[in-house]
Amino acid sequence: MTTAPRPPAAPRPLLGVDVGGTKIAAGLVSPDGTLLTSLVRPTPAAQGPLAVLDAVAAAVRELPGHEAAAGLGIGTGGVVDRRDGVVRSANDLLPGWAGTRLAQELSDRLGLPVAADNDANVFALAEQTFGAGSGCDSALYVSVGTGIGGGLVAGGRLLRGAHSTAGEFGHIAVPEAAGRPCNCGRAGHLEAVAAGPAMTALGRELTGRPDLRDLREVVTLAQAADGTLAGAARTALATGAGALGRALAGLVNTFDPQRVVVGGGVASVGALFWEPLTAAFAAELLPGPAALRPVMAALGPRAAVVGAAALLLEDRASGAE
Ligand SMILES: [Zn+2]
Repeated sequence: MTTAPRPPAAPRPLLGVDVGGTKIAAGLVSPDGTLLTSLVRPTPAAQGPLAVLDAVAAAVRELPGHEAAAGLGIGTGGVVDRRDGVVRSANDLLPGWAGTRLAQELSDRLGLPVAADNDANVFALAEQTFGAGSGCDSALYVSVGTGIGGGLVAGGRLLRGAHSTAGEFGHIAVPEAAGRPCNCGRAGHLEAVAAGPAMTALGRELTGRPDLRDLREVVTLAQAADGTLAGAARTALATGAGALGRALAGLVNTFDPQRVVVGGGVASVGALFWEPLTAAFAAELLPGPAALRPVMAALGPRAAVVGAAALLLEDRASGAE
C-alpha cells in the first residue's frame, strides 16, 4: 500500500481573534503562522455579548485582506466548549458572556466557518503549532499573567477534557497558597500565589509597602540596593515562582511530556522569576525526566491571534471541517 503525498497547505490566510475584557485583537494569519496584518479595538463589554460580537465582526471587516480568509478562529476568557463554540462560563470581565454561541453568531455575521476556544488553550495551540513546542508529540504549556492557564498536548493533540477545563493548571491546590483567595472562588490554589496580581499582593505584604501597584514595581524593588526590602520582594517572587515550579514538576512526573513551555506576561519578568521556578521544578523531578527544564514561550503576545487562527488548522488535521 502506498501513501499519497500530503497536499500542500491551503494558501488562503486565516483570521484569528482574541476577545478580552478591555480589547479585541484581530489578525490575518498565513497558514505557516505568519501574522500578516492585525489591529486592536476596544471591547464594548458593558453593552453585552451581542455588542461584543458585532464589534468582533466590525474589527474583522476592517482588516486589510480579510476577504481572502478561509475561516475564523477566536479565543476568549472563560470556559469555551471547543466542539460547538459555546461559552459555558465566564467571569465578570465580560458580563453575560456565559451561554454565548460564539462560533454560530460570528459565522452568521461573517459567512465563514468559525472555531472557538478558551484563550489559554489558544496560547498552547499557538506554541504547539508554530512556537516553542513545535514538533513535540507531548508538551505542557503554561501561561502566567493575571491568571494561570495552559494546555496539555498528548499524541500531538491538545487535550480538552470531558468538561472543557483541561489545562486549568492554576487551580491545583498548593501549600504556598493556603488560605489565599483564588479567582475561582475557592482558596489555596496555585493562581492565588503565582499569578502576577498574587505575587504583587504577596510583595506588598512581605515588604510592608502597600503602595506597590504591580509586579513590575515588585521586581524593581527586588533589584534595588536596600537589602531588607529587596530581600522581601525577592522572597515574594520566589514564593510564587517556586510554587509554580513544584506544581509543574508534579505535572511532569504525572504526564512525562517532552517539553514544558512557560509564557504570559509574568514569564518575561526575568531571572528573579525564572531562577526560583527552575530550581523548584528541578528538585521535584523523578529520575526519568530529571534533565527537563521549562523553556520560555516563543511567540509572545502574538500567540493569542496566531493560536486562534490555528484552531482552523486543528480542524483540518482532525478532518472535523
Ligand atoms: Zn482556583
